[in-house]
Amino acid sequence: MITAQTTIKPAGIDIDALPDNPYLLLTPGPLSTSKTVKAAMLRDWCTWDDDYNGIVQKIRRRLTALATAAEGFTAVLMQGSGTFAVEATITTALPADGRLLVPANGAYGRRIAEIARRAGIDHTVMSFGETEAADAGAVARKLADDTGITHVAVVHCETTTGMLNPVAEIGAAVKAAGRTYIVDAMSSFGGIPMDAAVIGADFLVSSANKCIQGVPGFGFVIARRAVLEACAGRARSLSMDLYDQWRVMETAKGKWRFTSPTHTVRAFYQALLELEEEGGVAARHERYRGNQRRLSAGMEKLGFRSLLPAAIQSPIITAFHNPEHPDYNFRRFYDELKERGFVIYPGKVSDVDTFRMGNIGEVYAADIDRLLAAMAQAAYWRA
Ligand SMILES: *Cc1c(COP(=O)(O)O)cnc(C)c1O
Repeated sequence: MITAQTTIKPAGIDIDALPDNPYLLLTPGPLSTSKTVKAAMLRDWCTWDDDYNGIVQKIRRRLTALATAAEGFTAVLMQGSGTFAVEATITTALPADGRLLVPANGAYGRRIAEIARRAGIDHTVMSFGETEAADAGAVARKLADDTGITHVAVVHCETTTGMLNPVAEIGAAVKAAGRTYIVDAMSSFGGIPMDAAVIGADFLVSSANKCIQGVPGFGFVIARRAVLEACAGRARSLSMDLYDQWRVMETAKGKWRFTSPTHTVRAFYQALLELEEEGGVAARHERYRGNQRRLSAGMEKLGFRSLLPAAIQSPIITAFHNPEHPDYNFRRFYDELKERGFVIYPGKVSDVDTFRMGNIGEVYAADIDRLLAAMAQAAYWRA
């Protein structure tokens, strides 16, 4: 097993001497990071110094290159968790007379609508339930009927269930109708190959602590430069003005308007190098997909059932039905697994009783095998 940990080590730090995490996170972020990513945080940075701003610029260039082979895109980083970056995008991209369409099939799609509601942005939710993928044909018909809609925002991997939405097909419909397209690729960017230009995205949003495998503290947006430039003066908030944030980063060459999460940013740069070292997004996608298949097959053998059919199941996170045994209790199951070195995730689906297991982060086939063995022991209700 080759991990990035064995290669690009930060200088002057005995990586092997760093403590192991007491358990592996099988969560959709924050997730298990490499020791070298954590070690990269062991120094302080001045936010307006060239050393630090240079790292920010390198990150922005790498993110743009990861997102698309096309010209005309730019990257902007935004303090906070992923939701802050989504909120900054929605509240900066939509003009006062704009209207947002949200094809939704989970909590993160609904969160986009809630962001619009709080900001007083006119919006329409197109609900597909929680176990059906969003339908591009239905979006196309809606856009043809409702000419007041200016923007469409959709979640790529709906982390509520682990479902993959057809962002390229929806993008084609949005572009054919001449509207602006915002993609929440939070839990997929860096872990599933995609090209922002090919899927028609004007804004692609993700964060530091998902598939790039950094630590939490900021989100980022890859934007079509001309579309972002047209957003000057639209933002409803000062600190979350995505345009202003970008303009300062661009003109002051890597400077953030307000205090930035310096250590997190440096760790993220290390995480980007490690992604490259692993073989890029295609190689990472293969690893995640291998993890997911191994996990699903093993869980089925243990008698657990996946929520989604394989065709719409992402390689990122899997939702399983909670066992229907009278003695089963999620909290106890969770504790039994944690004691054995694994942390899983509660369910988020509203009308089905589920729990979730992520397989992104520093998680390899051997970890899945250990997990499945622990799972068999932790199934206390069968004893
Ligand atoms: C993680 C995630 C977010 C952001 O969540 P935060 O808790 O704010 O980081 C948004 N959308 C999706 C699909 C996600 O998986």
